[in-house]
Amino acid sequence: MAQLIQVLRFAFPAVIAIATLEAIVIAVVMRRSYNWRAYLASLADALGREYLVYAFLPLSLAGPAIDLAWRHRLFTIPLNSAAAVVLLVIVQDFSYYWFHRCSHRVRWFWATHAIHHSSNEFNLAAASRFGWTGRLTGAGLFFVPMIWAGFAPGPVFIAAAINLLYQFWLHAEWIPKLGWLEYVLNTPSHHRVHHAANPEYLDRNYGGIFIVFDRLFGTFVAERDDLPCRYGLVTPLRSNNPIVIAFHEWAALARDLWRARSWRERLACLIGPPGDDPAAPLVAAVVQEADRQVGRAAA
Ligand SMILES: [Zn+2]
Ligand SMILES: [Zn+2]
Repeated sequence: MAQLIQVLRFAFPAVIAIATLEAIVIAVVMRRSYNWRAYLASLADALGREYLVYAFLPLSLAGPAIDLAWRHRLFTIPLNSAAAVVLLVIVQDFSYYWFHRCSHRVRWFWATHAIHHSSNEFNLAAASRFGWTGRLTGAGLFFVPMIWAGFAPGPVFIAAAINLLYQFWLHAEWIPKLGWLEYVLNTPSHHRVHHAANPEYLDRNYGGIFIVFDRLFGTFVAERDDLPCRYGLVTPLRSNNPIVIAFHEWAALARDLWRARSWRERLACLIGPPGDDPAAPLVAAVVQEADRQVGRAAA
């Protein structure tokens, strides 16, 4: 997993520079509204992760399982041909699909992933929000099966870093649909749907580099011209405080665990889907109605 952090750290200045350039073009050249507070919150999330959390918290919950899987691997897959590298990228993306799907449907993982969806804006700056707690949740466990099958951990986590870097450009709202590429690759259009909280779009398009696994496993939805995306969480987070952003869903999880009356309820709280709070559908309905009113007023 150290490889993932190294590659991302290497690319970090370029990622921030391009996100800033996008912000300047939108705000200064095109004179459109740009949420600089959300931009600074995204920057704080990224800087905090790169230079504080990763520097002082080298611990990874999945580390021992990764070591064990590699020591007892079934095969050793040499990466000395283009075909083997392509296979690595495809299998890593398949593993990423399930990691990402579980990150939306299992609250323990959602507590970290909610940060990526916490911005109410969809832009390149928001792409860098990942939160600070990913390594402590065991997210790396999703890549253990492919390591056990014979892919060495180093290349697996370099592929994971490349997968995440690929997804950076997907957070551009201004890139239109891309013709035949939409059938195979994850594109900005598909990822706009993924970041939308509209009920028609919610929990769709989990792919990293490819969109084929969503098409195969029934989680694909195409962006519709008649249904603009409303970005952010179902119950929007209004705060731009990086601490609130990093821990708001953990606080909500702790609150629900505290309120749970049995160990069965506590377990359901941890591994059940987010939004099972009895008040959640009500809040979602209120937000939806407010969106409808805003849409009507704008029209
Ligand atoms: Zn997601
Ligand atoms: Zn995203």
